[in-house]
Amino acid sequence: MTKVGRSYKQSDVDESWDAIVIGSGLGGLASAALLANMGKRVLVLERHYVIGGFTHTFKRKGYEWDVGVHYVGEVHRERSVLGQLFNHITDSELKWEGMGEVYDRIIFGEHEYPFRTGVKQFKAGLREHFPDAADGRAIDEYVDAVFAASKAARSFYAEKALSGVTGFLAAPFMRRAYLAHTRKTTWEVLRGITDNTKLIGVLTGQYGDYGLPPKRSAFAMHASVAKHYFFGGNYPIGGSARFAETIAPKIEAGGGMLLTNAPVDEIVVEAGEAVGVKLDDGRVLRAGLVISNAGALNTYGRLLPAEARARVGFSAALDRIEPSASHLSLYIGLNKTAAELELPKANYWIYPDEYDHDLNVERFTKDESAPLPVTYISFPAAKDPDFERRHPGKSTIEIITLAPWERFARWEQQPWKKRGEDYEARKAALSERLLDQLYRFEPQTREAVAYHELSTPLSTKHFTAYQHGEIYGLSHDPGRFEAKFLRPRSPVDKLYLTGQDVVTAGIGAALFSGYLTVSAITGRNIVMEALAETGMA
Ligand SMILES: Cc1cc2nc3c(=O)[nH]c(=O)nc-3n(C[C@H](O)[C@H](O)[C@H](O)COP(=O)(O)OP(=O)(O)OC[C@H]3O[C@@H](n4cnc5c(N)ncnc54)[C@H](O)[C@@H]3O)c2cc1C
Repeated sequence: MTKVGRSYKQSDVDESWDAIVIGSGLGGLASAALLANMGKRVLVLERHYVIGGFTHTFKRKGYEWDVGVHYVGEVHRERSVLGQLFNHITDSELKWEGMGEVYDRIIFGEHEYPFRTGVKQFKAGLREHFPDAADGRAIDEYVDAVFAASKAARSFYAEKALSGVTGFLAAPFMRRAYLAHTRKTTWEVLRGITDNTKLIGVLTGQYGDYGLPPKRSAFAMHASVAKHYFFGGNYPIGGSARFAETIAPKIEAGGGMLLTNAPVDEIVVEAGEAVGVKLDDGRVLRAGLVISNAGALNTYGRLLPAEARARVGFSAALDRIEPSASHLSLYIGLNKTAAELELPKANYWIYPDEYDHDLNVERFTKDESAPLPVTYISFPAAKDPDFERRHPGKSTIEIITLAPWERFARWEQQPWKKRGEDYEARKAALSERLLDQLYRFEPQTREAVAYHELSTPLSTKHFTAYQHGEIYGLSHDPGRFEAKFLRPRSPVDKLYLTGQDVVTAGIGAALFSGYLTVSAITGRNIVMEALAETGMA
């Protein structure tokens, strides 16, 4: 792992920049690198001690874990826009490893349903479990609906880069087709296709990828995730730290800098224009442009000074969009390799016997002793062919489940690592429940577990500043897609947003947000320019 950036306190930092980016998530890094390509000196300020946002990795006791990257779709396909954009932003330095024939294993009680790579194989895999002709037709219809929604997404997101009269006139036409898919819940669309609730439970078995069960999520969001993985999953070779490692050199080559331990307290606004940022030590750094990758709620609700905030016309509408769910993540270190333990590449999605995800979530939200509504298990050491070179004799596993923020809020004021015995006891009990799920399916790992550590929504808040420890920024319910203000250009001149709240959660979406933001800033179609450079357009 190459160290990216340096600590603010140990750096000599110029007072004035072409652009300042708040936050070093993938959207922030991509925006900074694209501006650097255009000759701009860009300063990236990250509050955490590592660059990368949810793509950062961390180490304990010789083990290494990624945080927010378990698989990425599409990048391996020859004519994939996403693959080409990654080649463009990393100068083809980022390489991917495919996950093979099966990317997700959906498990209800004793029944397992594999999601196979390739649309034909995906359908055939499901038909083995749902052999009825009516179910077969429903699977076909479902796949068609997923493709139709994904196709309509293009102009919806392209509109976000437009502004002025053109944008105003084009918006209704560019948004309309997609809104037909965002305004229905996943449940409504699937229930319109089939009344087989088991099939619906299985088809929505990746709902954890966007954090909302079928009755609450927008179908468009479900469709974008499902389609993203239809052709298989991939993992960045060398781990998720490779995103920052391969993008940062572009920023630095343009005279830019990436600083850690550099929390921004406020966006400085003068005469209605963003002119820089104030750091938490009171120092003001100035820039011709400010780009916030800190999320819409943080940017508009916390970083803008009160006077500028009061002039933002959509504060009430923003307040109505919920933050996404929060989560627990158990980071496990094992003293044997992935090969020795025969760890799979495919992810597990483990559910109770009950196929109704909404009901499972509701039960667990009311009562922590109810069955875990979802347990996701990922095996980065098996996915990454470079893992063993970096960590000989070892492997790691991550287990994730949902966890209501309210359950942890009472420890919010206690400092990290010093939240007291009752907090630690709660964590220990939850860790055991998650480990039990692992041992149920991969019992050979029991003897090899040498270390584990649980992150809670408080950890997520501590490291990322998402105020409710949310996993995916704003919630992906139908209301979110109505919010036209979730776009790069803000009502404050020279202030732009980037990252998952501008598009949606996901590595692909976060990268795309960087291209969208720089398109909005320059008035150029940076996606098309990038594709032309890579020879695809
Ligand atoms: C557990 C988990 C698993 C995931 N798995 C996958 C997956 O397998 N595949 C996939 O495609 N996607 C996955 N995602 C989603 C994906 O990681 C995110 O959607 C994406 O990385 C978000 O990028 P972003 O650009 O919005 O920035 P973020 O990663 O959200 O980063 C924002 C950065 O801003 C910084 N910041 C905030 N406030 C300030 C401030 N005031 N001053 C300075 N810095 C600040 C934060 O510290 C943070 O580093 C996962 C996410 C999580 C949490």
